[in-house]
Amino acid sequence: MRGFFHRQSKFQPVDPDENGNDQSIPDDLWVKCPGCNELLYSKELNDNLRVCPKCEHHFRLRARERIAMLTDVGSFQEWSSRILPQNPLGFADGSGTYEGRLERTQRKSGELEAVIAGEATVEGKPLALVVCDFDFLGASMGSVFGEKLVRATEAAIERGIPLMTINASGGARMHEGLFSLMQMAKTVAALNRLGAAGLPHLSVLTDPCYGGVTASYATVADVVMAEPKAMVGFAGPRVIEQTTKQKLPEGFQTAEFLLEHGMVDLIVSRDQLRVMTASLLTHYENARVVAAEASAAVNAEAHGEDIVVSFHSMAPERAPDSAQTGEAL
Ligand SMILES: [Zn+2]
Repeated sequence: MRGFFHRQSKFQPVDPDENGNDQSIPDDLWVKCPGCNELLYSKELNDNLRVCPKCEHHFRLRARERIAMLTDVGSFQEWSSRILPQNPLGFADGSGTYEGRLERTQRKSGELEAVIAGEATVEGKPLALVVCDFDFLGASMGSVFGEKLVRATEAAIERGIPLMTINASGGARMHEGLFSLMQMAKTVAALNRLGAAGLPHLSVLTDPCYGGVTASYATVADVVMAEPKAMVGFAGPRVIEQTTKQKLPEGFQTAEFLLEHGMVDLIVSRDQLRVMTASLLTHYENARVVAAEASAAVNAEAHGEDIVVSFHSMAPERAPDSAQTGEAL
C-alpha cells in the first residue's frame, strides 16, 4: 500500500562471509501461508500488508502495524499510554504471579497493555482510534484495556470526532476476574454516551475476536466491519459442539458466515480499509451537516411560529395604532 512495513520489517540483512556468501539463512525469510501452504517471501508479504498474494489470507498484525497501515503518516497521537495494569486479586497460577506474567509480556511485546488508544487522521479526517494487540496476553480485556477504551470514547465526545476500534481478542482477562468482566458493561455504557452525542463507532473485527470483547463493545457499533475469513464468536466452535452435541454448519464463525447472518455489515480486505474508513467518515460527516441544517431549519421554523404568534398577539394593539394613524390622516 505505502510500503510502511519497510520500517518494521523483521528481516535483518545477513553479513556476507569472506567469500561473499551468506553465513546463514534467517528463519523468517520465508513464511508458510496457513491459507494455501505456499512459501511466501517475507519482504513480498510485508509489502502486501501481510496478505497472501496467492490466496488473500490475512496474516495477523500488531496494533502499531495496523495504526501505521490505516492512518495518515505522522498523524497518530497516543493517549493514556502510561496507565499500567495492577494485580487487584493477587492472582497467581502455576506459572507464577500475574505481575510476573505482565512484566514478561511487556518486555516481549514492547507494549505496556493489550490496547493502544489515540487520535489520528485518515485521509485528513480526524478520529479516535483504539486498537487491540493480540500479542499481549491474547489482547484480553482487563481493567486498563477497558479504561483506555472509555477514556478514548470520552475524548472523542469532547472533541466531537468519531471512534474506531480495531478488535482482536481472546476475551476477558481471567487474571482480573470480576474487574475484567465489569469492562463489558463499562465500555458499552461509554459507547451509549458516544451515540447520544451523535457520533459514530466504527468497529473492525480481525482474526481472532472472541469472548467478552465480541460480546460487548466490539459488536455494538454503527458499522461492524470484518477482515476476510476472520474468526469471530463468543465461545470457540469446539466448545459449542461439545456443549450442544451438535455438528456446526460449515464456515461457522467466519466473517463471511456472520455477514450472511447479519452480525457483520461489511467485509473489508486490508488494502481497502483506509478507503472504506474515509468514505464512512465522509458519510457520517455529511449526515451530521444535514442533521445540523435540519435542526437549524426546525429552530428557525419554531422561531417563525413565535413571530406569527407574537404578530397575532400584537394584532389587537396594532389595530388601534392603525386606527389612530387613520384618524390622523
Ligand atoms: Zn496463501
